[in-house]
Amino acid sequence: MSKEKIPVAVLGATGSVGQRFIQLLDNHPWFEVKEVAASEKSSGKIYKDAVNWVQSTPIPADAANLVVKNCEPNLECKLIFSGLDSSVAGEIETAFASKGYYVVSNSKNHRMDDDVPLLVPEINPDHLDLIKHQNYDGGCIVTNPNCSTIGLVLALKPLHDAFGLDTVNAVTMQGLSGAGYPGVSSLDIVDNVIPFIGGEEAKMELEPKKILGMLNGNSINFLDIKISAQCNRVAVIDGHTECVQIKLKKKTSVEEIKEVWNNFKGEPQKLKLPSAPEKPVHYFEELKYPQPRIHRNIDKGMAVAAGRLREDNLFDYKFVITSHNTIRGAAGGAILCAELMKAKGTIKV
Ligand code: NAP
Repeated sequence: MSKEKIPVAVLGATGSVGQRFIQLLDNHPWFEVKEVAASEKSSGKIYKDAVNWVQSTPIPADAANLVVKNCEPNLECKLIFSGLDSSVAGEIETAFASKGYYVVSNSKNHRMDDDVPLLVPEINPDHLDLIKHQNYDGGCIVTNPNCSTIGLVLALKPLHDAFGLDTVNAVTMQGLSGAGYPGVSSLDIVDNVIPFIGGEEAKMELEPKKILGMLNGNSINFLDIKISAQCNRVAVIDGHTECVQIKLKKKTSVEEIKEVWNNFKGEPQKLKLPSAPEKPVHYFEELKYPQPRIHRNIDKGMAVAAGRLREDNLFDYKFVITSHNTIRGAAGGAILCAELMKAKGTIKV
């Protein structure tokens, strides 16, 4: 191990998101997985025996032989990535932060806490300041948005900055890995679309308002926009696709919107963070694009593929986006948050 790497632990390391962390952190230039933890069912086992590995690359050799630990705040690593089931994530993450750990979480539990950043490094890096107001005795909690929210906000942010957002309507077609493993039964999803994902619409209608909101001392002033979402589960393994309609405050054109997307860059690109996509939004002119199978891995799976931008009869414009739910929408997004925290000096290990 190179001496400069920061040792990290993954909570929920056996799950859908946890496995992505293990995969993406393999050979990471700044972080190295030294501990993995999961439920009592897995703890005490060797990671490769505890996990049902479903990634397309082999289990990284260093992680394969780690002993799975309990999710108790007695780990050696100070930086913790959490891919815990939301039924337990809230309490466990609080326990870790209270013992001085830096927790970067994918779970919903703390996202709406007043003093917890809901961080998308290209959009609201200044929201990291909120952790100064957390009472965790040196530790902190930073969260990552819901997996379909993140694609949406990456596409909306440059448009909001340039033209002002008024109203957003999004209809999603979400991949199966978003439901964790084993997720939805094959008899429910093959030859089918399920027009309900528990809690998802409420998250999509609320989270963008916090992410696009303004930092105001120890809390965020939520952005005042109208958002409506309808969420569907479809028979795609990875990748969430969204049909989006928007009303803007300022008049613009299709060409100007494409230009704004094309030029969009944020702090991760300026700081050249290791997991940053070169461009957060890639626009495709081909009428049949974007598609999850073709575009979910674009720019390391960290960018949004957009297409089909056109005028709309009800709103001003409509378009389609696709993004990877367990990379940009979960583990990759959380790693990018931790990279920003390290670059800004928030993580002192
Ligand atoms: P998952 O596949 O069901 O994995 C859940 C993980 O939590 C497993 O490692 C499991 O360990 C662990 N766990 C369950 N109960 C536990 C307990 N009592 N104590 C300690 N660990 C426990 O779920 P997932 O899809 O990876 O999602 C993880 C979190 O990320 C969820 O909060 C989810 O909402 C969020 N998220 C998921 C996605 C996505 O695309 N999948 C995207 C964004 C956010 P065992 O294997 O030992 O049971």
